[in-house]
Amino acid sequence: MFQVNDNYQKLPGSYLFSTIGKKVSAFSAANPDKKVIRLGIGDVTQPIAPAIIAAMHKAVDEMSKAETFHGYAPDLGYDFLRNAIVEHDYRARGCDISADEIFVSDGAKSDSGNIQELFDVHNRIAVCDPVYPVYVDSNVMAGRTGTYDAATERWSDVIYMPCTMENDFVPDFPKETPDMIYLCLPNNPTGTTITKAQLQEWVDYANKAGAVIIYDAAYEAYISEPDVAHSIYECEGARTCAIELKSFSKNAGFTGVRLGYAVVPKDLKCGEVSLNAMWARRHGTKFNGAPYIVQRAGEAVYSAEGKAQLKEQVAYYMKNASVIKAGLKEAGYTVFGGVNAPYIWLKTPAGMTSWEFFDHLLEHANVVGTPGSGFGPSGEGYFRLTAFGSYENTVAAIERIKAL
Ligand SMILES: *Cc1c(COP(=O)(O)O)cnc(C)c1O
Repeated sequence: MFQVNDNYQKLPGSYLFSTIGKKVSAFSAANPDKKVIRLGIGDVTQPIAPAIIAAMHKAVDEMSKAETFHGYAPDLGYDFLRNAIVEHDYRARGCDISADEIFVSDGAKSDSGNIQELFDVHNRIAVCDPVYPVYVDSNVMAGRTGTYDAATERWSDVIYMPCTMENDFVPDFPKETPDMIYLCLPNNPTGTTITKAQLQEWVDYANKAGAVIIYDAAYEAYISEPDVAHSIYECEGARTCAIELKSFSKNAGFTGVRLGYAVVPKDLKCGEVSLNAMWARRHGTKFNGAPYIVQRAGEAVYSAEGKAQLKEQVAYYMKNASVIKAGLKEAGYTVFGGVNAPYIWLKTPAGMTSWEFFDHLLEHANVVGTPGSGFGPSGEGYFRLTAFGSYENTVAAIERIKAL
């Protein structure tokens, strides 16, 4: 009789977005006259920019003729895209990264879930708390996290790095030494980030500890402050300790188009073993390439026209972020984030848990957000609002919250 991978049985139910969905449906059914505004899920709402749509149309037409048809893409990505990535995301910022260190994928969620395959099952992982759930859950599936304690909501073998207002949401170096460190900067869910100097300390720490940093830079396009690194490779020594994950979802609205990439430097080694070679082998075996049409769309992200249009799109969302932040401050809330990321992280009013505030907001303002406790125990007492809604809805939601 076959046996299943028992690690899957260890996963606690992730009820966050389904619980939110059920609560919102129940409220809407009971109050059909109320218009609910959703600032909960981190999905974009603006359409794909015209320069990117034009590139996709052109690529679709190429697929219609034998002379320009494209079948399987190269496993690791087309050169036109890998070269554009190197040029614009790395060389332009003085980072020493070459095209054969770029691995094009269908998105950063897949990469952040799959990358752990390269590492031994006994490695210890360190994660921020609160955290993007994929990092922990993918390691649970692999059997790397020990046992789950429902009371503390923690895994016995995971090293947690609390990020709260007490430490300005900057993780402290853990007491136990990790082998793999997950960092998402700018951060989802807190909307905060760290300076380049602080990131350099993490790179130095990882090199000293012999740890690898898995650096999720999905929100890089939202960085507005000059002392924040756009890539971990701006830090000295990152080539020997860091893997960077990027996504086209948040900077270009590709959540439904699907495109991302991982950077695995050739200097990243365990003894003589190259992680770059391992990831190439893994990609070649398990991934058959991102679609040609989508990679052409990705290339257009780096065109002059595409860049200008996306700059406007990011500015649109960041205008929402400042509307949320200013409005909440005016209403007396303590708020964080929203400067280098499209998320606002607020302290719930005294005496209210994250879920109590969720219910309060839904019932009295008809606004949906995300309870901070859904991202980890240190998220209790916080609440996330996203800037990814329309400007009109964002303004209306904040007016309602101010009127509470
Ligand atoms: C949205 C998001 C991603 C992007 O995932 P895709 O699969 O590229 O859409 C990755 N990491 C974090 C933390 C995110 O919030």
